[in-house]
Amino acid sequence: MNQTHDPALVSWVESAQGHPDFPIQNLPLGIFRRRNSGDPPGIGVAIGDQILSLAATRAILGIPRGPVGQACEEQSLNHVMALGRSHWSALRADVSALLASGSRASRPGTADRILVPMQEAELFVPARIRDYTDFYASVHHATNVGSMFRPDNPLLPNYKWIPIGYHGRASSLVVSGTTVRRPKGQLKAPEADQPVYAASGALDYEAELGCFVGPGNHLGEPVPLQSAEEHLFGVCLVNDWSARDIQTWEYQPLGPFLAKNFATTISPWVVTLEALEPFRVPAFKRAEGDPEPLPYLQTSDNQTRGGLDLQLEVYLSTARMRAHGIDPLRLSRATTVHLYWTLAQMLTHHTSNGCNLQPGDLFATGTVSGPTKDSRGCLLELTWRGREPLTLPGGETRSFLEDGDEVILRASCEQPGKVRIGLGECRGTVMPAVAS
Ligand code: CA
Repeated sequence: MNQTHDPALVSWVESAQGHPDFPIQNLPLGIFRRRNSGDPPGIGVAIGDQILSLAATRAILGIPRGPVGQACEEQSLNHVMALGRSHWSALRADVSALLASGSRASRPGTADRILVPMQEAELFVPARIRDYTDFYASVHHATNVGSMFRPDNPLLPNYKWIPIGYHGRASSLVVSGTTVRRPKGQLKAPEADQPVYAASGALDYEAELGCFVGPGNHLGEPVPLQSAEEHLFGVCLVNDWSARDIQTWEYQPLGPFLAKNFATTISPWVVTLEALEPFRVPAFKRAEGDPEPLPYLQTSDNQTRGGLDLQLEVYLSTARMRAHGIDPLRLSRATTVHLYWTLAQMLTHHTSNGCNLQPGDLFATGTVSGPTKDSRGCLLELTWRGREPLTLPGGETRSFLEDGDEVILRASCEQPGKVRIGLGECRGTVMPAVAS
């Protein structure tokens, strides 16, 4: 840890003090522009309820400096991500000093030229994401889902050896706030002779943690676990919308396809791995009798500090709840402490065959579920495939999502003696399927 993590650090941006997500100890990066301005998008740092424009601070104050300062004039974070950890750290130090009390940036005439109120900003997907991969790293999620389909044999024999994943679709990644259209697809009821093409009746969310890749690797050159963290730029929230009825019919033998690639929502702010440093914890403690990871997935450093103590919450707000002024209902709260594999292990495994990762690529953990019912990160698990519907305030029930439902993901890191930081929000509202 360094000066930027100091709990005593205070910003001249007043709303940063005590802000649940964006105090000066966080400094997440995103892509924004002033709404309706017609300006090109640029890189910003969330600080309290404001956004610091890095292009503006560079033009006015010459900061951030060096190659990473130049990369901050781009319209996506890819160039910053490509530079690597020492540059990310230099950027964080510059921005922290700039936003700390007493900085020359706080002077009248400067502050109002480099800050944009978040309320007046439009936010974008923070990088040009060329490839997106989704893992399946929560053993509780895998066990729950497996036991619905294979009660006698919930966890397949490979699970504890290999970080299971599949290649997702980058083109349908959307930023928080984008509406999501209910997909249509092939559905086959168990008793039916043949499938029909219709709107999904079992639309679900999956609450996940996403991770952006930094410099990446050349084709054919795996990233060893001891250097994997040099390629982990930072994290965001991911909602992997899933149509369970389409999934049930299509998933064998090649896995998810159209049940999941119609939309994936991500939060706009990328919280860097360096900002998460105070919340690092040991990797998941495997149960007695579980296999040790193979040597390429095992280092003592990963074992002692490869995990992350981050709480991920899911809220639901239906159209009726909003019309009646009812607050969103929290459906679940889980922690990434329970993930069976660390982010570093996922990245190393992804490259272990020589597959190349590129700056701005995104991978996600898979649904983050814990051991208890209130920590299940999707409706499939919470309602046990629809058999135990949830009752909502106002009397509505839900097995799966209805049109007009808004799903809100939030995440934060909080520990005694440390300043709480958060990831912000990842929101999406379900729109009706296209008419046939
Ligand atoms: Ca998923």
